[in-house]
Amino acid sequence: MCRVTAPTSRARGAADACPGVARPFSAVDGSIVRLRPAGLPVSVRALSGLLDVVAGQPDPTVLLTSRAALQLRGLPDPLTAETRAAVLATGLVPAPSHELVRNVVASPLSGLDGGGRCDVRPLTAALDDAVCAAPGLAHLGGRFLFALDDGRGDVIGGTFDLGFLATGPDRGVVLAGSQPGGWSVPLREAVRTVTALAEEFAERTKGSETAWHVDELADRLGPAPTCAISPPPQPDRPLGAVGEHAVVAVPLGLLRREHVDALWRVAETVRVTPWRSLVVEHGSRHLPALEAAGLATHAGSPWHRLHACTGLPGCSRSAIDTRALARDLAPLLPAGDFPVHVSGCERRCGKPAAAHVDVLSPPSLGAALDQIAAHSARESAHSTGSTEQEGSWT
Ligand code: SF4
Repeated sequence: MCRVTAPTSRARGAADACPGVARPFSAVDGSIVRLRPAGLPVSVRALSGLLDVVAGQPDPTVLLTSRAALQLRGLPDPLTAETRAAVLATGLVPAPSHELVRNVVASPLSGLDGGGRCDVRPLTAALDDAVCAAPGLAHLGGRFLFALDDGRGDVIGGTFDLGFLATGPDRGVVLAGSQPGGWSVPLREAVRTVTALAEEFAERTKGSETAWHVDELADRLGPAPTCAISPPPQPDRPLGAVGEHAVVAVPLGLLRREHVDALWRVAETVRVTPWRSLVVEHGSRHLPALEAAGLATHAGSPWHRLHACTGLPGCSRSAIDTRALARDLAPLLPAGDFPVHVSGCERRCGKPAAAHVDVLSPPSLGAALDQIAAHSARESAHSTGSTEQEGSWT
């Protein structure tokens, strides 16, 4: 499937800087390190270990990202050997050579609630094994994203580079970015097909910083598509009890010691969702305890749909403390369905992939409420609305 390296459609001015243990990002408040669960369960012990790493900070937290990754900031810059060892001791970097490319979002409730067309959990594990076993895939950029959707449409509706959408218990369609059409394959062939396409991408972009995504290639990826497909509409994000299981939202995506202590009492592992929430298997009966620890467990909570980028003091690009503003905004958040994302600048880091209310660098709480009200007014006037229709997985 490999082709001769083709020219790409966009020039890049900066190198891929997605952080990892091997390549921390240097921010104004220290090093940033990102850990990638690759769609697999994360042990609560590992989450506790990450909190131990940041324990000396004034506000020690682990950030859940919109690509279902875990991020630490404010670490020593440069990263010390002691800190690096403590992060590695959590077991969240199982394949150091491929640390930066294990970017996977997978339907988090797959196999648990009967909601999909197949159980993508074995597929997710097999894809991680295959990616980490392919030396050439270590060259994928840190922004390259795999999406594995069990057919319910929860993760395939966002942006991705290579995706799989189940169409039945033993079959699905492999998709490449927003390229029209896909490749209908038996489930047993999905990993081989996805990794072959990833290897083609890696080969075509090797040694170049000009294309980070499939959609940035000048020529389409892979052979001619074998089928046309329209992704299903994105379902509501789950929260609270899902059968005997539970989904709990983490306010602002910032996981704290009290959250992890509560999780520790009810589960050994959790799944990280792309919506700053966690799936707790067999956790529905423990929802009151998880709520008491500060996790959001019902759709009426503002933390089900309110988020903010890092902002001040961690990001020098921002003129405002976005998280402080979001905390002030939470009790006043007008009723509505759309997620609300507060950004400190036009980069809009971490904005949702789905439609959302875009609150951009408001100078005050009142200005933020005005922006939300203006959005609501536009929604009322135009049923199709003016919400952001595209997002980026950051
Ligand atoms: S959106 Fe802007 S202010 Fe917010 S974290 Fe990103 S770069 Fe910083």
